[in-house]
Amino acid sequence: MINNVVIVGGGTAGWMTATYLKTAFGDRVSVTLVESARIPTIGVGEATFSTIRHFFDYLGLDEQDWMPQCAASYKLAIRFENWRGDGTHFYHPFERLRVADGFTLADWHMALNGDSATFDRHCYVTPWLCEARRSPRLLGGGLFVSGLDGSLGRSTLDEQRAQFPYAYHFDAAQLARFLTGLGVKMGVRHVLDDVTGVGQDERGWITHVDTKEHGPLTGDLFVDCTGFRGLLINGALGESFMSFQDVLPNNRAVALRVPRAEQELINPYTTASAMDAGWIWTIPLYGRNGTGYVYSDEFCTPEEAERTLRAFAAPGRDDLEANHIRMRIGRNHRSWVGNCVAVGLSSAFVEPLESTGIFFIQHAIEQLVKHFPDQSWDPLLIDGYNEKVARVVDGVKEFLVLHYRATARADTPYWRETKLRKIPQTLADLLEVAATRVPDESLLYPYYHGFEPYSWITMLLGLGHAPATPRPALSHLDPARAQAEFAAVRAGAERMVAALPSAHEYLTSIH
Ligand SMILES: Cc1cc2nc3c(=O)[nH]c(=O)nc-3n(C[C@H](O)[C@H](O)[C@H](O)COP(=O)(O)OP(=O)(O)OC[C@H]3O[C@@H](n4cnc5c(N)ncnc54)[C@H](O)[C@@H]3O)c2cc1C
Repeated sequence: MINNVVIVGGGTAGWMTATYLKTAFGDRVSVTLVESARIPTIGVGEATFSTIRHFFDYLGLDEQDWMPQCAASYKLAIRFENWRGDGTHFYHPFERLRVADGFTLADWHMALNGDSATFDRHCYVTPWLCEARRSPRLLGGGLFVSGLDGSLGRSTLDEQRAQFPYAYHFDAAQLARFLTGLGVKMGVRHVLDDVTGVGQDERGWITHVDTKEHGPLTGDLFVDCTGFRGLLINGALGESFMSFQDVLPNNRAVALRVPRAEQELINPYTTASAMDAGWIWTIPLYGRNGTGYVYSDEFCTPEEAERTLRAFAAPGRDDLEANHIRMRIGRNHRSWVGNCVAVGLSSAFVEPLESTGIFFIQHAIEQLVKHFPDQSWDPLLIDGYNEKVARVVDGVKEFLVLHYRATARADTPYWRETKLRKIPQTLADLLEVAATRVPDESLLYPYYHGFEPYSWITMLLGLGHAPATPRPALSHLDPARAQAEFAAVRAGAERMVAALPSAHEYLTSIH
């Protein structure tokens, strides 16, 4: 039996893994987590996917249990600013496209209206809620869409059927602290110490990790949650890392925590603002904003990036401390090698755009439970895990490359360079087709990677990579049903804007 798991690292990845394994397996598996008090976690303000709900529900946590302790707020969408030229914006919401007569409203919008810049507001309710800074919940706690309230229980990403309409922003360091308390209560052995060495047998499998003050920690399965270091997987086991820098240029970030002058102006969305050499995130937490400039050091120095971020997000606040971060962009060739599984930044990271880091962690730990080994360490089970993880990461990579390729923005050396890089053939094919029609599912990355077809369509149209002419079939169809759907979107949006409290009002009621 494999019943002794040692996790190295106490960031979001380490504690999400520890609490999830304990919830799944209870006392049948013992979990030890060792983390350094000296080496900090990444700890920038964090945005998530709507599917993170499965994680909290699996652990049996209500929003009221954890949100107030993590400065958490709601995220209904990402607002992309200046990506199709200065002064423009559009939303990528958590909302599927409606369909009329077998064609999505995106197709109908391009046929009836023709302007891809207004597509989001005509096809989705969410942009209206974002502009009005609404909460997705009524003051009594009910959700603005029916049928989606109530816990999902112990369900996983594989069982996601409906599109839940929001995700969260939270302080990742506070979430890790909250999960520490929970994990310890569940029976996780928490060791605060530095790992100084890794013991391996003649096959290279890990027998123990050495610590400064607690001696060797032995285990059957070791989970590497040491962040970009990859102390076990890359350091001890020498697994190779595949960089994505050939297609995704950003390799650095600088972050600032900025107090928000007017608390009531909390936005229920993440903002991604295009800049000369990358983009700036604004993540509104309850009480402050997390901001950061993600850039390529080929086109911008860290000093320039910090100056740009300060001028953008915190003019006159030179007292705020900037956190400069070097990012390792790509994935391990294999995330599971021998008896070591890497989860979190030690496994893969594709850059902060579209907030996929914590989603990767959630996916990895669900798959770890599904592929949990026995003494035989079945290589097919391990290969199966590695394939799932690689496919998720590669799909996100393609989706993010699309962001840089589909935008017409080419006004600085950085944006011009994003158009010159080699892209996967599948993506090149998709872009070619998308210039003539709104693409359907069959053209998109075919494996699960967290993004649904509506996300790809939203980014293509939002960024301005839209078909020059509508689908011919639509000129022969009666548009009445589509027009009724557009009217329903508009009427629904007006009704909800009037009925829902502001994000600030609702969050204050639970914090
Ligand atoms: C700039 C940036 C922005 C991001 N934004 C988002 C976002 O908006 N949304 C999102 O989902 N994800 C985001 N991510 C990704 C997200 O931050 C990570 O996926 C997440 O925080 C998990 O980090 P981690 O736990 O893997 O690593 P870390 O936070 O780096 O934790 C590493 C842990 O390992 C420990 N450790 C290291 N070496 C040793 C040792 N020798 N002995 C003992 N312990 C050791 C450290 O003490 C620490 O506890 C972002 C990442 C970056 C870089």
